[in-house]
Amino acid sequence: MNFDLTEEQQMIVDQAAKFVANESPVDRFRKLRETEQGWEPAMWAKMAEQGWLAIAVPEEQGGFGGTFLDMALILEQLGRGLVAEPIIASAVLAGGILSDLGTEAQREAFLDPMIEGSTSLAFAYAEAQSRYALADCKTTATKDGDGYKLNGEKVWVLNGHAADQIIVVARTAGGQFDDEGLSLFVVDGDAAGLERVRVNQMDGQRSAILRFTDVAVAADRLLGREGEARATIELAVDRGAAAACAEGFGCAQELFERTVAYLKEREQFGVPIGSFQALQHKVVDMYAELELLRSALILSSVQVDIEDEETRKAEISAAKLQLTDSGWFIQENAIQLFGGIGVTDEQDEGLFFKRLRCLQGLFGDGDWHVDRFQSLKGFDAVD
Ligand SMILES: Cc1cc2nc3c(=O)[nH]c(=O)nc-3n(C[C@H](O)[C@H](O)[C@H](O)COP(=O)(O)OP(=O)(O)OC[C@H]3O[C@@H](n4cnc5c(N)ncnc54)[C@H](O)[C@@H]3O)c2cc1C
Repeated sequence: MNFDLTEEQQMIVDQAAKFVANESPVDRFRKLRETEQGWEPAMWAKMAEQGWLAIAVPEEQGGFGGTFLDMALILEQLGRGLVAEPIIASAVLAGGILSDLGTEAQREAFLDPMIEGSTSLAFAYAEAQSRYALADCKTTATKDGDGYKLNGEKVWVLNGHAADQIIVVARTAGGQFDDEGLSLFVVDGDAAGLERVRVNQMDGQRSAILRFTDVAVAADRLLGREGEARATIELAVDRGAAAACAEGFGCAQELFERTVAYLKEREQFGVPIGSFQALQHKVVDMYAELELLRSALILSSVQVDIEDEETRKAEISAAKLQLTDSGWFIQENAIQLFGGIGVTDEQDEGLFFKRLRCLQGLFGDGDWHVDRFQSLKGFDAVD
């Protein structure tokens, strides 16, 4: 199989790499992490101009009709600059759902302004007790006249603090753990009864806890059929996991390349520390892990778009596990090889370490994905 990028894909990579170098180097992130919003609308508009927010949207919906791999290539480059604009929350998660389920009117109202870069979106699905169990939902949407009333709390809502519109998972029927009865609603970020608590993540990015108290939602803000959202939610979170792998791969590459450069530059005992064989062995092992991660990422990105649900889930779980295992090996060794300065905030390597750590936990951590992989393949039945 030929894994070379097509000419078009190589252009996407070059364009994104140039953008990061010119518009959003790591120093910019250092400034943004001190701000309340954590990202800039002006940069978001520039990203829209590049076409990135519409890259995976079908042409008939006003997008570029690209593949998930195209999006992954962009995310990888953004990961190399720690770009904090909410592309995963808006374009991958919420944008994907609107594209999958939205009517023409809903896409016009919520998707089009996002891909033009004038609004941003979020997807609120996780709850404090649910961990990675997507059906575990206590938030309810009860009929109220022609519309609904939402009550409940969501956590880890990426861009939930700033999004203009938020896609919320709420239960319209069934008990807390039922697969059936989950519905998706588009809720205005400024809706009455919605409390947004900004969360400063350990990687310097932002998310939110959202509390809904009798939030009124009109019937035309229901996405798809009432009570039948389970498969869409799973697909959205799988896309999120694949996106995390892509961005995380960018972080891991930076950690690797910066470590190699440091070993050539740092001298101890009158020679570069990279001349010590013990350290050469470590970077060779880091390189091997990086290549394993690259292969898993490519395969999972290709499988996001396929119809066979089981294969999609298995490949994405395998890649997410690789992000945890290979990623951790690279992170840990990079910090060790930088010696004492590796743990200081002045070194950018720590920023990549922390971002990668967050991406490893988002959309299912390594343990959760290894369990899903095992059960899909039937390995959990083997003693
Ligand atoms: C949290 C923390 C607290 C600290 N507190 C103190 C303290 O209280 N007092 C104090 O004096 N110091 C302290 N240190 C500093 C610590 O002693 C140094 O970080 C340590 O001695 C390593 O030196 P270095 O940072 O210059 O790394 P370097 O010597 O530059 O080493 C970088 C990398 O190269 C490797 N390396 C270096 N030489 C060789 C070699 N010959 N062969 C193979 N590998 C080699 C190292 O193992 C490391 O992985 C602290 C460090 C940390 C992280």
